[in-house]
Amino acid sequence: MSGLFSSPVSPVVIIGVLLLAAALFGILLRKRSRSANRPFGRRSTSTLGRQSCSYCRRKVPAKELTFYAGPSKVVGVCRQCRPQAERQALMRL
Ligand SMILES: [Zn+2]
Repeated sequence: MSGLFSSPVSPVVIIGVLLLAAALFGILLRKRSRSANRPFGRRSTSTLGRQSCSYCRRKVPAKELTFYAGPSKVVGVCRQCRPQAERQALMRL
């Protein structure tokens, strides 16, 4: 192993190795951040982007839910269940 250290290494090789390491590191980082972002993004869209209707439990986009203040809780209902909530004289938020 001592022969490896004593042998002169040209700067070109060092730069090449550094560039290769940087490129590999960059690819690894990009891969990691992408794989880390994807499940997180999916989770955030499932919790924030889509919510289940309080009545029929159907998953609908959050913007399609209408929120009503009930006697004890706030309910988010989908378009189909909106008349149901209005029948119960809930206050629309
Ligand atoms: Zn519903």
